[in-house]
Amino acid sequence: MRTRQNLHMHSLWDDGRNSCREMLAACRNQGLAAGGISLHSPMPFANDWTCTADRVKDYLREMDGLRQAWPDFRVLCGIEWDVLSTQVDLTSFDYVIGSVHHLPVREVPPSVDNTPDELAETVRIDFGGDADAAAECYFQELLKVAAEPRVRICGHFDLLLKFNERLHLFNPESSRYRKAAHLALEALLDAGKVIEVNTGAMSRGWRSVPYPEAYWLQEIRRRHGRVLLSSDAHSAAHVTYYFEEAEALLEACGFDVVAELNPSGEFAEISLKNGGLRHGPSGHDKK
Ligand SMILES: [Zn+2]
Ligand SMILES: [Zn+2]
Repeated sequence: MRTRQNLHMHSLWDDGRNSCREMLAACRNQGLAAGGISLHSPMPFANDWTCTADRVKDYLREMDGLRQAWPDFRVLCGIEWDVLSTQVDLTSFDYVIGSVHHLPVREVPPSVDNTPDELAETVRIDFGGDADAAAECYFQELLKVAAEPRVRICGHFDLLLKFNERLHLFNPESSRYRKAAHLALEALLDAGKVIEVNTGAMSRGWRSVPYPEAYWLQEIRRRHGRVLLSSDAHSAAHVTYYFEEAEALLEACGFDVVAELNPSGEFAEISLKNGGLRHGPSGHDKK
């Protein structure tokens, strides 16, 4: 495995099953050089999967303490910002992952990654069964990730497909789906966002391959975009889940490097072939 850091992990501060310390210790034990917790940002409606606004400062304090724990391991304090999130100061974190988890069609917006039933019901009720319209809505929301300057990494680009191996709800090859996704990807890459290759739905048994799928990985490569691997782990057992295989997938899609956040806050490029620093900080990093 060439990847040396994982920046997308959850903990007891949101819907993860292990403490921040346990998640980071697992990363260190797996041979990573750095690990980042990505707190689910507070949402403006009641839910059971994000941190609440009043607890963010306690999360920051705990992460500050953990930075001192391992001199040989870099601890990063991140946030997974949802585009509907309002009550959080994104400058408080080492990095921001930008994600869409909801479709803004009701006052309490339905989630696209909670359960297959909720997603299927949303497509049926809110979009009259038109899955392409739901996809257009999702990718339209993703433009907000591209537009937020604090976001460095785009989370799970095609999250809509989380349950698709079971539901067959979306046709990602339909012209409307593709067009909406292409527009979002173009905006994200133009804004300099790094696209994560996320194995989280695999470790939880929903998918057999990471997302974005190979078609999009090839498209990102064609457009000279940058990618990094993340596990979106919600338990310590999954911090590097499927990383070796995902690296092979990236190579098959034409990538020879993955991005890595270095201590100065820039992205460096790590070779998938020899594990070394290949090009140093990449010159086209737009914050
Ligand atoms: Zn997410
Ligand atoms: Zn996540």
